Amino acid sequence: MNSGKVILITGGSRGIGAATARLSARAGYRVCINFHRNAVAAESVVAEILDAGGVAIAVQADVSSEKDVLRLFDTAEDQLGRITALVNNAGILENQSRLSEMSLERFQRVFATNVAGSFLCAREAVRRMSLKNGGTGGSIVNVSSGAAKHGAPNEYIDYAASKGAIDTMTIGLAKEVANEGIRVNAVRPGLIYTGIHASGGEAGRVDRLRHLVPMQRGGQPEEVARAILWLLSEEASYITGTLLDVTGGR
Ligand code: NAP
Repeated sequence: MNSGKVILITGGSRGIGAATARLSARAGYRVCINFHRNAVAAESVVAEILDAGGVAIAVQADVSSEKDVLRLFDTAEDQLGRITALVNNAGILENQSRLSEMSLERFQRVFATNVAGSFLCAREAVRRMSLKNGGTGGSIVNVSSGAAKHGAPNEYIDYAASKGAIDTMTIGLAKEVANEGIRVNAVRPGLIYTGIHASGGEAGRVDRLRHLVPMQRGGQPEEVARAILWLLSEEASYITGTLLDVTGGR
């Protein structure tokens, strides 16, 4: 059932990452599910994939730690083979707050995970995938956010700005490696039903705001995962540097 396709999904244990892990296993990828703290959630996604006849491992690593990221990529390649796809999905936000109330430590935490983490993982993927380095190419999808467009006022401008950085990295890196067999794209999800809203202090946020969405509903993690899998696939072979909104029209 499994081809030579190997995918590494940061934050693949919950929410959008977990949906992407399940779907990619069904598409024939061998799957490396990275997580930070919640091993139980990661192991349960692995078990689901193994039960369905797929191949998956879970690897703990904090994407904001260079040492952890190097170990993550080495472990994935040792156990699953050459990585052909990276989903830079791990991301955090903190309690809803005005910018005037935000601490330096908070900015640093959000940027360390969302920006430095994505840069480190993209760097390791490019080093391994690039035709220039003897690799066989590959595809990267960054998980940005609709917040990069609307700025998340009164909630988390820091988070929105970190996703703006991801959009810019997507555009620049796509051009940098376009002739090295690597495509780089991003999805920008809107209001999606996952646990991330609880970490901002409002578990019911999607339902409070869904009237702002032209389609008048929140999205499911699987609806984002399908867009990610499509961008990774050969169906999107002439697409690079694209930011794909998955927002119900918002
Ligand atoms: P989630 O349900 O909160 O899951 C977050 C995942 O990231 C978990 O697997 C978590 O692992 C992992 N993670 C967090 N910090 C990490 C770190 N330092 N190193 C490695 N893994 C880490 O989030 P989600 O809603 O699925 O969000 C996934 C991505 O989509 C994020 O980049 C988010 O910004 C973006 N997004 C989400 C929405 C939305 O409405 N949900 C909208 C736009 C964009 P542990 O559980 O082990 O900590």
